[in-house]
Amino acid sequence: MAEAERAAPEEICGVLLGKRDIITAVVPIPNIAASRARAFVLEPAALIQAFARAEAAEQEVIGFYHSHPKHGAQPSPTDIREWHYPDLLMIIVGAASRKVAAWQVRGVEATPVELVFSDTPAAPEIPLSNAGKIAIIVSVVLAILAVLVVSLTLLPPAPPIP
Ligand SMILES: [Zn+2]
Repeated sequence: MAEAERAAPEEICGVLLGKRDIITAVVPIPNIAASRARAFVLEPAALIQAFARAEAAEQEVIGFYHSHPKHGAQPSPTDIREWHYPDLLMIIVGAASRKVAAWQVRGVEATPVELVFSDTPAAPEIPLSNAGKIAIIVSVVLAILAVLVVSLTLLPPAPPIP
């Protein structure tokens, strides 16, 4: 909200990172729209950097946000028409109504999603990375091999073949 008010009458925009339904990082991206008072276009290089940051921190892109300097937090017809991320959140900072709202936009349907603000962010459960899973599989395989080797070396020598 503070950022949206600072930038008014221009719109701000950015990416929301996190895990599942918990937003843990808000990454502002420069708005490079020709008419920033009426539209937003995320600057591609900064957007790619944000994606890389998400990847490095094993975070997901949860959604995108932008502001409405002179309107409320409802998606505009343009917002709905140009949205192509049915599984991501559209968060709108309505500077005029001082409201922040989250939406799930599928086709022409915009469904409100409840936003809960918290000063003490819930620690997101961090699932194992692929590297972590591979490390566990490798150590299990090595343990089995070690048991096999030990049991084979403990076997009595084979009787001589007549
Ligand atoms: Zn909008």
